[in-house]
Order: sequence, then C-alpha cells, then structure tokens
Amino acid sequence: MQRRLPTRSEPLIIVVSGPGGVGKGTIVKALVDRDPGLWLSRSWTTRVQRAGEHDSAYVFADREAFERRIACGGFLEWTEFLGYYYGTPTPETSDGRDVVLEIEVDGAKQVKALDPSAVLIFVLPPSRAEQERRLRGRGDPDQKVAERLRKAEDEEPVGMALADYVVVNDDLEQTIEEMLAIVNACRARASRS
Ligand code: 5GP
Repeated sequence: MQRRLPTRSEPLIIVVSGPGGVGKGTIVKALVDRDPGLWLSRSWTTRVQRAGEHDSAYVFADREAFERRIACGGFLEWTEFLGYYYGTPTPETSDGRDVVLEIEVDGAKQVKALDPSAVLIFVLPPSRAEQERRLRGRGDPDQKVAERLRKAEDEEPVGMALADYVVVNDDLEQTIEEMLAIVNACRARASRS
C-alpha cells in the first residue's frame, strides 16, 4: 500500500535572495509557472518603475503610502535598499500554496526570525563580469550598475552565511531544476516533522 505523507497546515515560505543581476526575477517566475503549488508574493517598493518593467513587477508606491502601511503593521518584512523602501505585504492568503518571496538579505533575515522553518535559497552569479553584463542589460545607468555591484560585495557573504542552500545561476534551466528539487525536498521534510 502506498504511504501518503500527512498534509501540512501551514504553507512553507521559500525565500529567494541574491545580488542584483543574478536572475532572481526570471527564476522565481519559472518556479511558480512550473509548480502549481507555489504562490509568488508581490512586493511593494518606492523605487521608480524601470523602462520596460511590467506594472505587476511591484506595487509601486510613494514613501507616504509605504510609511502608512508600515505604521499599520501591513508588512511581513520591509527594508531600505539603496535609498528605496521594499517590503513584503503580510500575505492574506496563498490558497494553501507555498509562498515564494524574492527579497534581499535583510528581509530574508527578518523572515527567518519570524518563521524558522522558512527556506532560504541564495543565488550567486557565475562571475562578477556576467553579473555586470546582466545588470547593464536591464538599462540601468552606469552609476546604478556600480552601486549594485558594490552592494553585491556586501550582500554575498551575509547571504551565504544565512542561506540554507546556495545555488550558482550559471545555466538557467539547471538552476530552475535544482531549485524545484530543493522545494520538493523541503516539502517532504516539513510533512514528516
Ligand atoms: P530591484 O530594485 O532590483 O527590483 O530590487 C532590489 C532588491 O530588493 C533586490 O535584491 C530584490 O530582491 C529586493 N526586494 C524586492 N522586493 C523586496 C521586498 O519585498 N523586501 C525586501 N526586503 N527586498 C525586496
């Protein structure tokens, strides 16, 4: 007889972090497209929308609106990153699906403190040169690219120390497969505990 794993009452939180230009946005989109048991949270930010960036990438808010939401406890976590606010709205429902957060390391640390069962996956670029190439491809001005590369130097050691898993995004398809396998392994472990 086939043994069924018990169902979990609480969704798993999967946090995907990593420096700018590492491909996190593409990766998390592929994860939720391929695994119907995953739900992607949409963050708020006060950063201006990039040219060509989809309206649904974030809830784009002004500082006043963001601060009002902080004041009423509407964020699971929030931080200031390179002069802008970013935050995860407290999830209302994920319909039983596991929750994916694509956030930077300070937010990842906050989530882990709130929920020690959250799974932190830190994604690294194959090289600084490749990361720079990807950042330039987004059309950011030189000064923003330099700022993000400097920030990456600070973020990487912190993120790697904090992470449950570290994945190098050399080959996108392989990275996605690896991360789906991590998610499934974590689900199986959560069901047994
Ligand atoms: P970007 O401006 O490139 O879209 O995002 C800058 C950084 O903020 C990225 O590392 C991204 O993962 C992170 N980020 C996006 N949304 C959130 C959020 O809700 N909370 C936190 N803490 N970081 C976020």
